[in-house]
Amino acid sequence: MRSNERETPQVISVATSTTKFRVLAALNELHLRYRDLREGDVATYIPELAKANPDWFAICVVTADGQIYEIGDADRQFTIQSVSKPFIYGLALEDYGRDTVLSKVGVEPTGDVFNSIIKLDATNRPHNPCVNAGAIATTSLIKGADPTARLNRVLEMFARYFGHRVQVDMSVFMSERTTGHRNRAIAYLMLNFGMIPDNVDQILDLYFQQCSILGNCRDLAVMGATLANNGINPITKERAVQSEYLRDILTVMYTCGMYDFAGQWGYSVGLPAKSGVAGSIVAVVPNQLGIAVYSPPLDARGNSVRGIKVCQDLSQEFGMHMFDAVLTRSQAFARHDQSPTSLHPPISNGSTHQNGHSTAGAVAGADVTRGAH
Ligand code: GLN
Repeated sequence: MRSNERETPQVISVATSTTKFRVLAALNELHLRYRDLREGDVATYIPELAKANPDWFAICVVTADGQIYEIGDADRQFTIQSVSKPFIYGLALEDYGRDTVLSKVGVEPTGDVFNSIIKLDATNRPHNPCVNAGAIATTSLIKGADPTARLNRVLEMFARYFGHRVQVDMSVFMSERTTGHRNRAIAYLMLNFGMIPDNVDQILDLYFQQCSILGNCRDLAVMGATLANNGINPITKERAVQSEYLRDILTVMYTCGMYDFAGQWGYSVGLPAKSGVAGSIVAVVPNQLGIAVYSPPLDARGNSVRGIKVCQDLSQEFGMHMFDAVLTRSQAFARHDQSPTSLHPPISNGSTHQNGHSTAGAVAGADVTRGAH
C-alpha cells in the first residue's frame, strides 16, 4: 500500500480487511491457476507487438468506489489497441449525438473477425464500432480543427479515464502505420461508399494513434471502473463521459466487444467487455467493478487466452454474470460476504461519488492492494 501518499488516514475495519484479503486471495489463486497455461500466440501482424513476452500476466480489479486490487505485472505498459474503440465511440456520441453516429456506424455484431474487409450493411455502414471498419468510421467523426487538435481531444479523454496523462507509443504507432495495409483497404472501401471523408491518411493516423496509447492493467481496470461508476473516474472523481452515452458504450461492448466470440463471452461471462490485440481485456460489472487482465498470447479470434479464462472464472465464482445479478441480486465480490461491510456501497447518480474511504485525488494516492506475485 502507498499509505505514505494518502492525504487522510484510512480506517480499515476487521470486516473490510477480511473482504479485501478474500478478494486478493481470489485474484492470487486465479493468477496461479493460469500463469503456466501455454495456449495462444502473441500478435505478430503488427511487428512491434511481437516483442511481447508471453509470460507477462496481470489481473487488476478496481471497485466503483475506488479500491484497487492487483496481482502480477500490473505496472507493465502495453498499447491499448482495440480497447480504445468503445471509448472513442463515446467521444463521437458526445460530439454528434446518437442519430448522426448511428447513420455512420451500426450496432450489430458481425460474427466475423475484427479486421474483416467485406462487411458493410445494406446502408453501407460498418456493422459496429468495435470492429476495425466501424472503429475507423467512428474515429473519422472526432471533432477538432486539425489532426493535432483531434489527437489532443482523444488523449485528453483517455487521461480522464486513466486518471493521469497518457502517451502514444511511437514505435507501435509507426509499426502499425507502415504495415496496416488491411486497415487502409478498409478505410478506402468506406471512402468509396461515402462513409468517411477523404482525409483518409489523417483518419488512419488517429486510429493508429488511439490504438497505440500506452496503459497498464491498472489503468484499464480504472477505465472499466469509470464505466461502472456512471462515467466518473472513481479515483480522481472526474467525469470522463456524459452519463447519457454510457448505456450505448456498454451495449456495444456487450454485443460486439469480443468480436466473433461475443456470443460465447456473453453466455459464459455475461459482462460488457473489450479486448485488444496486445493482450488485454477490460470488463465492466455495472455499478460495481472494472476488471482488467493483461496476457499477450491470443486465441484465433484475437482475444487474450488467459484473459478469457480469468474473466470466465471470476464471473462464475463470484456470480458476476449480469443475468445472475438480475436474477439473484448478487453483489459480485460481496455476494458471499456475510459481514455487514459491503465492498460496494450503493452508487449515487450525482456528479460526485461518496464513499466511506478517504483517497487522494490521483491514482498515486489511491488505495492499492497488491498481491504477492
Ligand atoms: N490496431 C489493431 C488493428 O487495427 C487493433 C486490433 C485489435 O486490437 N483487435 O488491427
